[in-house]
Amino acid sequence: MLGLMQDWPLLCHRIIEHAATIHGSQEVVTRSVEGPIVRTTYRQIHDRALKVSQKLTRDGIKLGDRVATIAWNTARHLEVWYGIMGIGAICHTVNPRLFPEQIAWIINHAQDRIVITDLTFVPILEKLADKLPSVERYVVLTDAAHMPQTTLKNAVAYESWIGEADGDFTWGTFDENTAAAMCYTSGTTGDPKGVLYSHRSNVLHALMANNRDSLGTSAADTMLPVVPLFHANSWGIAFSAPSMGTKLVMPGPKLDGASVYELLDTEKVTYTAGVPTVWLMLLQHMQAHNLKLPHLKMVVCGGSAMPRSMIQAFLDMGIGVRHAWGMTEMSPIGTLATLKPPFLDAAGDAKLDVLQTQGFPPFGVEMKITDDAGAKLPWDGKTFGRLKVSGPAVSKAYFKVDSNILDEEGFFDTGDVATVDEHGFMRITDRSKDVIKSGGEWISSIDLENLAVGHPAVAEAAVIGVYHPKWDERPLLIVQLKPGQTTTREDILKYMEGKIAKWWMPDDVAFVDGIPHTATGKILKTALRDQFKSYRFPNAAA
Ligand code: ADP
Repeated sequence: MLGLMQDWPLLCHRIIEHAATIHGSQEVVTRSVEGPIVRTTYRQIHDRALKVSQKLTRDGIKLGDRVATIAWNTARHLEVWYGIMGIGAICHTVNPRLFPEQIAWIINHAQDRIVITDLTFVPILEKLADKLPSVERYVVLTDAAHMPQTTLKNAVAYESWIGEADGDFTWGTFDENTAAAMCYTSGTTGDPKGVLYSHRSNVLHALMANNRDSLGTSAADTMLPVVPLFHANSWGIAFSAPSMGTKLVMPGPKLDGASVYELLDTEKVTYTAGVPTVWLMLLQHMQAHNLKLPHLKMVVCGGSAMPRSMIQAFLDMGIGVRHAWGMTEMSPIGTLATLKPPFLDAAGDAKLDVLQTQGFPPFGVEMKITDDAGAKLPWDGKTFGRLKVSGPAVSKAYFKVDSNILDEEGFFDTGDVATVDEHGFMRITDRSKDVIKSGGEWISSIDLENLAVGHPAVAEAAVIGVYHPKWDERPLLIVQLKPGQTTTREDILKYMEGKIAKWWMPDDVAFVDGIPHTATGKILKTALRDQFKSYRFPNAAA
């Protein structure tokens, strides 16, 4: 027997319709690419998104067609986002920090028909345009006054383009499993892979994000997503904030400490989200100028492990932290760390221990850890294995890739290695390809890196496994020092001694001028492995 409730497909544009109807005057504030701070509302974003849909339809864009955006976090980007999805086309957010050849590869793979971009990226696109045969036109997110001379095909200023529409348009309904958005993983190994979100997965993910132990903002909050829309839907915030009527502050192109601080302060932001590098810049700026943020309640931090010293620094300022883990394939929320029984009264180091884990999943994400053969491992907080996940907002396949990515229980292998404790708190110990396999045992490169950055002279640390004739692999610690600092190999190793198992101690320390990063700000270990491929440990006698 079936239930007797309404068919109400979970469609993304219903979110902005709700925001416009119930929270229509709620503000969306943008630091525009042109410079000034621009203020708009959910009602206006909704109305202009309808114009985008009308114009895309007139340009021949239909259900299932791909439209790319290469743009910063702005209100215009949000209008375009909902305008594309509202007609069942697919909003393909392209990460502008990728290498130009990767951008071209991705646009060609997705077969994007229109590219909507900020002024910032016009020069890059002009260089790539003759390699992008599927693109029929470029829309530049600016007005006629700021529109540059450009060789881009059928280029038009966004304001002129939607200025030709009257907004007399309605979004229809279609199957909630229709694709809504796509985002390519950065492809640090092999070609990038296209993750294809559906309307249903995005709406369910927004509900998960709205969970109080998750992002949990309300209509009384103000959220500043530093995390870009092109980084897994700004961790879902482009859906969750309008669904709750949360005021949005969009930082545009300026993500340095001073600019982010200024917006957090003047707009009385209560929630913000971004990667550790961004928070490092913010903290440095605040400490250098003795600044405070009395309105800020929560810093959500993910994408890479949040260092303990950073958690402490925010707590010391009376600001809460939420360490989050996830990935593009998970829309991206996987787990978030908050205090729950039996840790509610934890204080000092015990509290930091909990907040430093990657946390537990909201309803809608299932996880397990397994050995290499797929056998489940215990949740004892010590045993580490491959972290696998399942849920309605987790990928089951990649775009145009015809291979199964799920195990026999339907779980997706995240490529991360983790422990889980009896309360469901997960702790990432490594990427499976970065874990150091020494004499049949695993050593966590992340744990060693986190420890090494605690040394006062160390700016950044990376650990890679290097061939060893007896142990297969041993850890090599690669260190970039803070400007003006000096130290020795012995001093760093002495600092680490006693804080980890003896057999985890790096066999050597190498000093470098700079540590390479991926387009999403993670340490680029493939480049380091390449750089040190002929390195041999001085003590490596068999
Ligand atoms: P990319 O395209 O760089 O892979 P993702 O955002 O999809 O971008 O990266 C997901 C990966 O980032 C995860 O599988 C994990 O390895 C890492 N990651 C994300 N959040 C955390 C975190 N809080 N701690 C440690 N690693 C994290």
